[in-house]
Amino acid sequence: MTFTVQGIPVARGVAIGRAVVIASNGMDVAHYFIQPDEVERETARIQDAVVNVVQEIMLLQEEVASHGGKEISQELVALLDVHLLLLQDPELQGGITQCISERLYNAEWAVTAHIASISRTFEEMDDPYLRERKADVEQIGERLLAALKSSESIQPDQQTERHSARAQTTLMDDGAGEPLILVAKDLAPADMLQFRKSVFAGFVTDVGGKTSHTAIVARSMDIPAVVGARSSSTLIRQDDWVIIDAEVGVVLVNPSHILLEEYGFKQRQGELERSRLKRLRNTVAVTMDGERVELHANIEMPVDAASALQEGATGVGLFRTEFLFMGRGDGAMPSEEEQYRAYKAAVEGMNGMPVTIRTIDVGADKPLDTTAYEAHRTNPALGLRAIRWSLADPAMFQAQLRAILRAAVHGQVKLLFPMLAHLSEIKQTLQQLALAEQTLEARQIPYGKPQLGAMIEIPAAALMLPVFLRYFDFLSVGTNDLIQYTLAIDRADESVAHLYDPLHPAVLGLLADTIRQARKAGKEVSVCGEMAGDITYTPLLLGLGLRCFSMHPTQILAVKQEVLRADTTKLNEWAQRVCMADEPAKVMAERPWIGAERRQQPRAL
Ligand code: PEP
Ligand code: MG
Repeated sequence: MTFTVQGIPVARGVAIGRAVVIASNGMDVAHYFIQPDEVERETARIQDAVVNVVQEIMLLQEEVASHGGKEISQELVALLDVHLLLLQDPELQGGITQCISERLYNAEWAVTAHIASISRTFEEMDDPYLRERKADVEQIGERLLAALKSSESIQPDQQTERHSARAQTTLMDDGAGEPLILVAKDLAPADMLQFRKSVFAGFVTDVGGKTSHTAIVARSMDIPAVVGARSSSTLIRQDDWVIIDAEVGVVLVNPSHILLEEYGFKQRQGELERSRLKRLRNTVAVTMDGERVELHANIEMPVDAASALQEGATGVGLFRTEFLFMGRGDGAMPSEEEQYRAYKAAVEGMNGMPVTIRTIDVGADKPLDTTAYEAHRTNPALGLRAIRWSLADPAMFQAQLRAILRAAVHGQVKLLFPMLAHLSEIKQTLQQLALAEQTLEARQIPYGKPQLGAMIEIPAAALMLPVFLRYFDFLSVGTNDLIQYTLAIDRADESVAHLYDPLHPAVLGLLADTIRQARKAGKEVSVCGEMAGDITYTPLLLGLGLRCFSMHPTQILAVKQEVLRADTTKLNEWAQRVCMADEPAKVMAERPWIGAERRQQPRAL
């Protein structure tokens, strides 16, 4: 039976494929595809784990029998007997090993996937005794996962290579020729990194907001995705056919033949539109009235520089360096040398164009694997995040600053600091920078002098712009956080996503003022939050005087198309009216600068 789940769209397009459901209790185990020649080894790991768990349970039975009271011990021994029976059931082991051999899941993933599917079968049984066996099945799963921990698995850095190797040969299919859709309760940004360049054609999560970092990484992967689709990971089953309509945030499960055809058509139309946009790649972004606009890329890894160039970016406006620190598993930070090589690769990859490197912004919904900090804080988004984190760990900060300064020798590097709000933080940051320069000087290591910039992403910063303009060469507005902190809306919480409003008059006031004051002071200002890559807001931002936008590479050509169509002389007055309105969305909808025909079809070429 077909049913739909509504969520929040995070990337455009339609994806159709079979569901790969990651059970919510499996979030903390690794999920990755193995190579066919690793099937034997992963299967052997399962067999060893089963043997170990059987021995463990038998030992436990002996202990219970000799130490427990008579009644309790009989009950427990019987319960453990059930566990033994289930564990030795050929169907359980067969199902797990099938996930390994046919789907090429790693052993841990195979256990969580198969246990989830059996426990659901038990859950749906009429007999209350059998229904209760669900808990036993889950306990067995946990025991198997614990046993697997002691056997060697593939190292995370090898996994990444394997993903890409596989992606090159079998893009978006599971070997059976069918695209795969990832369905999960939640995915941390670090998990998303793992899935980048992997085989998925789209993904759906139960939680998350439009500008959560998971959504941001999804957008950079350029695959249709829906977040905040509550309960989707429990409603959708392994192998269900799923359609993701990421234009409207709808997930259709088990669609009829007619629906499949209809969405297949829509998917092809989308692909056609994208290939048409490619023609704009080498066109300079100039408005109809001759205003030149810089369209920069947001990147997460040095290799992303290639896609930035491919999409016609004229620079990198935001390199989110925290992704170099995340998902390492071993708890180690990247060394100065490793960071230097990464920054240098990004700079050289951009062929002389400017590269804005932002110092680490971890915390809130971008936890480092090594910190359990977020888990026991009530408001991690208001806690030790971004520059606060850097200033609290000077050794780490110094290593990063030295690495960036050294990379600045190789090209046009700009250095950007996140989440500054206090003059004292600005001063401390600049002192740290001076110290890093002195150290390099003393070590006789060459370094460059990058331009310095501050993110304007806390209302306090937007309300004290003269101070920021005095200390920095450029500003970059982080609208994702500016909206979050102005409206007190957790950007990663789908339950308040309807209140996350870029067109709130307070947000527009801060944004407009930042652009105006920076321009007046003759300083460069850009927007690097998700608003910059959303074509709905391109005319408004141009009307407010913005001439530098930074976004995911995949959004650049669509925004460029809007820039080429725009006439800023007609946009300025309207943009002011939008900002002054009680209900800006209504004035936005007027779009007086285009004819009625295009107003109905804003995306047509
Ligand atoms: C922002 O806050 O808008 C921004 C660009 O930074 P991040 O999304 O990484 O917090
Ligand atoms: Mg931010």
